[in-house]
Amino acid sequence: MCYTIPGQVKKIKDRIATIEYFGEQKTAINELDDLKIGDYIYAQGGFVIKKIPEAEALSILTVWKETFFELQELDLRLSRVGMEKYGVNKKLSFILDKALENMLLKEADLLYLLDLEDKKELALLFKTANFLRQKHLSNSCCVHGIIEFSNYCSQNCQYCGIAASNKEIKRYRMTEEEIYDAAKQAIEKYGFQTLVLQSGEDSTYSAETLCEIVKTIKERWSVLIFISCGEVGLAGLKKLYQAGARGLLMRFETSNQKIYRQIHPGRTLDSRIKHLEEAFRLGYLIITGGLIGLPGQTRRDILNDLLLAKKLHTEMYTFGPFLPHPGTPLAKSPHPEVKDVLKTLAIARLFDPINAKILVTTGFETLHPKAREEGLMAGTNSVMLNVTPHQFSKNYSIYPNRAHNQESIQKQINTTLSILRGMGRAPTDLGVSLDSPLP
Ligand code: SAM
Repeated sequence: MCYTIPGQVKKIKDRIATIEYFGEQKTAINELDDLKIGDYIYAQGGFVIKKIPEAEALSILTVWKETFFELQELDLRLSRVGMEKYGVNKKLSFILDKALENMLLKEADLLYLLDLEDKKELALLFKTANFLRQKHLSNSCCVHGIIEFSNYCSQNCQYCGIAASNKEIKRYRMTEEEIYDAAKQAIEKYGFQTLVLQSGEDSTYSAETLCEIVKTIKERWSVLIFISCGEVGLAGLKKLYQAGARGLLMRFETSNQKIYRQIHPGRTLDSRIKHLEEAFRLGYLIITGGLIGLPGQTRRDILNDLLLAKKLHTEMYTFGPFLPHPGTPLAKSPHPEVKDVLKTLAIARLFDPINAKILVTTGFETLHPKAREEGLMAGTNSVMLNVTPHQFSKNYSIYPNRAHNQESIQKQINTTLSILRGMGRAPTDLGVSLDSPLP
């Protein structure tokens, strides 16, 4: 993962640039025609996104230099605390040792971990996941911004508060200008370098309109753009890639065909998967995953979800709790327990230790006020902040009482940076100086 700090290009071979950050080398795909060895750049999600003048780069690096190593040191220290395995049963100890030695865990091992209930054993699982996160990915943490530009949706997902059948919510569509204003604020004022553009399935925005939006944002600012507008069609995916989108956020929701059919009337899991496969083939970065705690879901289903996410080449795992919404057919179904969500996130790390970004979802934060702190200490390394203007975001009610719904962008950033600093983590895509005032 690349940091938000400027890196210096050390080598360019075909489309791959090698970039150095305080002595650490990373690689990224280069799509800039005029990139040269020695240039300073920002990279995001494995793409070089823009060059920056040397003087500006050097002054940012001076501010960061000491802090960079201090943060890494703190993270290293915290990730080694309490790894003793005294009194832990042999089977668990054996599985965790295998994970620590980079051996592939078998499905039976993962199912065993998914069945853990004992607090002490769970604590050891979370610590192991955090240790692996630190060992392979160091202290970087993705902080993407998300703009939810429309809550109109033609679909009737049985759990979702913005489903077409819910007549109780106030609907909104942001105009193109409103989307650009939100993007401008997120990028210029708050320093985001990766934006996710999300909406319900709303055909009012044709593929051409979505392409125009992506193209305009890319032309005005050099950022990495993920689209998250549901099934836009395989041709739509191609057009959006050509317009400059480089990431797709789309959960398959569940790998269980029967549950999928029951909760997505008129839709098929195969079609969802086809989109994800085609997106990867086109070169998109993939963020996918599923809902934890759906009615009828078993531990085996959760394992299958993790396997499917990996098979779909997810670069970021997004697994969050199902949260019952009163305006939906699943209003009376229970949400999962906090420990089951944390367990899934930690197991995702053991299952895909080396490269995976794993998200602490807003859904998890809605279920549990300490989700971010606990998730980040259990193997995860990504968060998303909502940069939708408040007058719209308050109506993006996919589930009730969404965490941070009342918070300004600045407040979300301050809280996030404060949590990250306390754990020695550095944001990868939020260009806010570590000198920025904290609350
Ligand atoms: N239309 C896009 C799509 O189909 O992926 C993106 C919008 S959709 C509202 C974004 C995500 O919200 C879904 O992938 C789903 O997992 C999540 N979501 C919707 N309702 C939810 C609920 N009640 N609990 C938890 N997550 C929910």
